[in-house]
Amino acid sequence: MAAYKRVLLKLSGEALMGDDAYGINRTVIESMVRDIAEVVRSGVEMAIVIGGGNIFRGVAGGAAGMDRATADYMGMLATLMNGLALQDAMKHAGLVARVQSALRVDQVAEPYIRPKALRYLEEGKVVIFAAGTGNPFFTTDTAAALRGSEIGAEIVLKATKVDGIYTADPKKDPSSTMYAKISFDEAIARNLQVMDATAFALCRDQRLPIKVFSIFKQGALMRVVRGEDEGTLVHL
Ligand code: UDP
Repeated sequence: MAAYKRVLLKLSGEALMGDDAYGINRTVIESMVRDIAEVVRSGVEMAIVIGGGNIFRGVAGGAAGMDRATADYMGMLATLMNGLALQDAMKHAGLVARVQSALRVDQVAEPYIRPKALRYLEEGKVVIFAAGTGNPFFTTDTAAALRGSEIGAEIVLKATKVDGIYTADPKKDPSSTMYAKISFDEAIARNLQVMDATAFALCRDQRLPIKVFSIFKQGALMRVVRGEDEGTLVHL
């Protein structure tokens, strides 16, 4: 039995990349979609905000001398490519998904329209939000906090490569341990980087909890949705 009726899953571009250096790894995306399908078929309404870091990041473009806003628009377009790839993989797995873009790209995806997104969710369709917030200088984590708040999700599920939030970097400090849960205030006090500051502040203000977990761990997404012991819960 699922603990949530509606969730917002944040998938980073890196998650689609697997162990590759760049782009989209088909095997990885297919296995991820299998996990997502299991959750959706259990009756949980799911919206996804997809990142773009596996293709292009505005910060990198900016550092290389590009105009930052232009680079960020490129980053948003990268999320759109990932969104289409994810939708395609879902179709092959028998899931119905709709991509809604925060930037107008009418030939490839419909624009973000909140009531339409809500209707799709009620119909059991997966809604993939692409192009972030549609604004440069933001991230897809912030888009996740924003869309999660807009659609009334009960939780933001932040899928990462690590299985939760640790007291210190586990690669550098072998004695570090993972938090089962931590409050927003404590995460700030301890300077733990859960999400970027804008995203984190929005979740806290909107009283939207965050669960950080590994998308590469078999069955983890389902356990998270069931409210079982998995990953780290950031609560109020
Ligand atoms: N981006 C943006 N505004 C947004 C969301 C994303 O400008 O609202 C751009 C930004 O350049 C970012 C890139 O899109 O680097 C890809 O998004 P992000 O880095 O959040 O992807 P992830 O780290 O999740 O793969």
